[in-house]
Amino acid sequence: MHQFFNDMKYIKYILVVSLFGVHFPVLFAQPLKPRPDAFPPVAENYGAKAVQMAATVEEMSGWDRYPTYETYVAMMQGWAEQYPTLCRLDTIGTSVNGRLILCMIIKGEESSQSQRPEFFYSSTMHGDEVTGYVMMLRLIDTLLSGYGSNQQYTDLINSVDIYINPLANPDGTYRRGNSTVQGSVRYNANNVDLNRNYPDPFGTAPLNPQQQENTAMIDYFTNHHFRLSANLHGGSEVMNYPWDSFTSRQRPHPDRDWWIEVSRRFVDTSRMYSRSCFRDVTTEGYIEGGDWYVISNGRQDYVNYYHDCREMTMEISSVKTLSSDQLPAYWRFLQHSFVNYIGEIFTFYTPDDPVGIDAVGSKAITMQVFPNPAGDRAFLREPMSMESVLYDMKGMEVQRIPAGQKVIDLTTLPSGLYLLRCGTATTKLIRQ
Ligand SMILES: [Zn+2]
Repeated sequence: MHQFFNDMKYIKYILVVSLFGVHFPVLFAQPLKPRPDAFPPVAENYGAKAVQMAATVEEMSGWDRYPTYETYVAMMQGWAEQYPTLCRLDTIGTSVNGRLILCMIIKGEESSQSQRPEFFYSSTMHGDEVTGYVMMLRLIDTLLSGYGSNQQYTDLINSVDIYINPLANPDGTYRRGNSTVQGSVRYNANNVDLNRNYPDPFGTAPLNPQQQENTAMIDYFTNHHFRLSANLHGGSEVMNYPWDSFTSRQRPHPDRDWWIEVSRRFVDTSRMYSRSCFRDVTTEGYIEGGDWYVISNGRQDYVNYYHDCREMTMEISSVKTLSSDQLPAYWRFLQHSFVNYIGEIFTFYTPDDPVGIDAVGSKAITMQVFPNPAGDRAFLREPMSMESVLYDMKGMEVQRIPAGQKVIDLTTLPSGLYLLRCGTATTKLIRQ
């Protein structure tokens, strides 16, 4: 009898719910889409015709092709030659088959400044997830060619050392040879998944010996002090923040709120240009990695745990190997988010100076602002003899501070990073 009433209650519940036109399963947690990063599809998800290759640097001019390996190397070398004062080409290491794992280091005119944080973008450790590969090449080109004309790029390059590694697993991408990305695979030449091959801070030993691509990457992290980084993947569209090794209920990340804010800004900005992006895993477009699927020996948790670097995994295209003619559309909606993400470093990074940030710029003018980060008001330590101008990170002028005035009123400004300029001197100001 007791059981009968329980069943009745259950049935009534379904009926009531149905009366309101609500589909029953909607009320309960919908299973998340399986994580392709954890379970790679067996079949390749692109057609051979859709992948156009660029055999020369000139053929990359429309950004609607994938570069051959030789074109890629030539592009990286070309920028280093074209912009010798702005960038330097570095080699992180070599792959099992001897291909180069390259990194472009972009530093501005004031690169002698010791208090510049280091930022790192890295893509395509899964060789078939190649959208990020082309996006990072285009980002290098955009930042370098925009220096001096685009205020945001100029300020970023002058205040952050930007490292960009477009291709972390060249053997996986060029599995069928240097001339095509068709037939690219997730794994390196030893058929090892590089994203299950890092030391795990939480105890699990990797199945395979550490691969040389990862040893090189670990050395690179050890020899630098990246404070913020992102690792680009494909197969889904979602911002995946740490931890990957735990669900948020098991072990929430201490910077969880910050990660959510940063992810939201990235997704919101992209959705201004494409309303349909970042919707295939969660409606918000972001998720804590372990809540999607728990993995171990991934790069993200390793970097966060061992290198005092905030790294997230950006899954940027639902299709791993996009038809090459779709690459410009992805760039259109992602480019601003990619650039802004570099600036997120200033939402938590402050140099060692406990009071203010040292002026960046000419020796003739020194400018210090305190407190920094600031609340409603900030102060110039010394009043300037000329008018100063405050810019937001889009390069828009938001305020003028007359010569001789020490107080900067920030009450009407949203929180974020600003740049204060006086003559040739620039200093960063963070509004809390
Ligand atoms: Zn991946």
